Formats: sequence, C-alpha cells, structure tokens
Amino acid sequence: MEKTKCLIIGSGPAGYTAAIYAARADLKPVVYQGMEPGGQLTTTTEVDNFPGYPEGIDGPKMMEDLQKQAERFGSDIRWGMITELDTSERPFKAKVDDGTELLAETVIIATGATAKYLGLESEEKFKGGGVSACATCDGFFYKGKDVAVVGGGDTAAEEATYLANLCNKVYLIHRRDELRASKAMQHKVLNTPNIEMLWDSEVKEIVGTESGFVKALNGAVVVNNKTGEERKIDIEGFFVAIGHKPNTDIFVGKLEMDETGYLKTKADSTATNVEGIFAAGDVQDKHFRQAITAAGTGCMAAIEAERFLS
Ligand code: NDP
Repeated sequence: MEKTKCLIIGSGPAGYTAAIYAARADLKPVVYQGMEPGGQLTTTTEVDNFPGYPEGIDGPKMMEDLQKQAERFGSDIRWGMITELDTSERPFKAKVDDGTELLAETVIIATGATAKYLGLESEEKFKGGGVSACATCDGFFYKGKDVAVVGGGDTAAEEATYLANLCNKVYLIHRRDELRASKAMQHKVLNTPNIEMLWDSEVKEIVGTESGFVKALNGAVVVNNKTGEERKIDIEGFFVAIGHKPNTDIFVGKLEMDETGYLKTKADSTATNVEGIFAAGDVQDKHFRQAITAAGTGCMAAIEAERFLS
C-alpha cells in the first residue's frame, strides 16, 4: 500500500499553504483536492483582501497560483475525495473514492466549510452577480448602495454592521421576531440607524436583470410569514448569513468536534485530539473564516506535522 509522511485533505488556502510548507520541509505531501478543487474561493470573483495583491485577484486564479506554488516544491496534488480515515492507529489508513488506499504518518485536514444558502432558484442564478455568502469578501463592491442580509445569528449581525459602515442602507431579514445573535451584537444591530430590520420575514425571490453572462441583481421579494404581506425591496447586494456547515461528516466519532461539527484543536495549535492529525482552515474556525487566516493555520499545521515527525 502507498505510504506518505503527510496526507493533506482539501485544497483551499489552508490545504495548499500546508502543502507549500510541508513540501519545503521535505515531507512530500500528497494532497487530495476534494469535491471543489480550490475551495470556496473558486466561487468568488475578485479577492481584494489577501495581502500581496495590490490590484486584487480573481478567486479561481489565486487558487490556481497557490496550487502551482505547492507543486513547485513537489507536492503531489490529486483529484479525488477521501471517503474514510481510520484514526485509531498510526500510520492512519485513508481510502479514496477511486478505491486507492494509503497510509499516512500525519494527516492535515483542511476540508473547509460550506456556506448554507436558502435554496431558491433565483438565488442560484445571481450567485457571483449580487448574491454572496461573505460580506468581508464582497461588501466593498456595494459601497454606497442598498443591500440585504438574511439570517439572525452572530454572522448575520456582524455582516449587517460591517455592511452598514460601507453601504447606504442594510435590510436585515430574519424569519423570526427576535435575533439569535448575542445580546451585544443585537444591541449593535438595533442601534445602527441605517440597518432596517425586517422581522418575521422570508425571501421569496431575488430579482434582477440578465444580459448574456452579465447579471445584475436589483431587488428581493420578501414575505411576512405572519401576515402574508409581500414587499419588494430595492437592493443591489444580497448576503446570505444563515450559517456554515463544516465538512466533517467522515470524521464523526473519530475526532473531537464541537456541537456544530467544527473540529476541535488545541489552544495555539492545529493539533486535534489524535496525535499526528492536524486541522487547518474553516473546518476548525467558525469565527474568522478568511482566506488569510486559513492560510495561516495551514502553515501552522505543516510546521506542527514536521515537528511531530521529527
Ligand atoms: P447560526 O446557526 O447561529 O444562525 C443562523 C441564523 O440563520 C439563525 O438566525 C437562523 O434562524 C437563520 N436561518 C437558518 N436557516 C435559515 C433558512 N433556511 N432561512 C432563513 N433563515 C435561516 O449561524 P451563524 O453563522 O450566525 O453562527 C454560527 C456560530 O458561530 C454561532 O455559534 C455563533 O455564535 C458563532 N459566531 C460567533 C461570532 C463571534 O463571536 N464574533 C461571529 C460569527 C459567528 P433561527 O434563529 O430562526 O434559527
């Protein structure tokens, strides 16, 4: 059976950064890219907040560059999904969806998290053309404009207040009559003059124009779920903040997770509860979720894997 010193699962900024560092440390990492090579950034257009790109860079291009950089130092990057990982003994046995099996002395899990969407057809249509799941990434494009955020948790509250600083007006659409967000965040939202709460409200449809490949969102139809009243709001950006799902299904019962499925890591470390298995990026971070923080923890994981082996 094939053996590797370091198996990296996932190919977002965390996975590729781990690969760059692990390859340079001569661990000859094998990277399995997963279902979405390049990760969540491949669904964004421009990335303007990653240091080192003064003019910004397209998300997919940035991930292509990161992959090339990892390959330059000898990372073995493969298309495929890890479907099973035996964490009970080292080396850890992993199974790939094409039937391959390999033994890994260390594993870096960088499988990320997937943003949840409402599931509307019109939402799908305007993804990348007005619909976003990350205000920090895309808010800048809506400077001075009217936008909406949907959700009632801490993420929605944070995104709404972040956008309120940039935009003319923010509608915060929540399906109930009270926010789930922490009291401090609720206070902030309810005291920001350019945030308008739409309580007991659900989004029926997102509307806009389409001309060839160019899509421009210009509104959303919102329904009050108590009165049935429908209202169209005029907005140019629509931010979905109804939570993320960490991609940890295959680790259930094998690695320690919090109650929402995020992998637990030790303080100031990427070490999981199993020695030799590390977790980096959004799969272990529900607070920051940025490409740069994911890359940072990817670097930490590779350094920790190398130290563990030596
Ligand atoms: P949450 O699960 O806390 O909140 C999701 C929100 O979206 C809820 O208000 C929920 O409504 C709403 N929602 C879910 N599904 C739908 C749907 N289909 N249609 C409409 N609305 C929907 O997710 P968050 O991302 O906000 O937070 C995740 C975790 O991360 C939490 O523990 C949070 O505290 C933490 N966090 C902490 C931060 C901080 O400390 N700075 C920042 C961001 C997150 P309902 O309330 O009705 O269920």
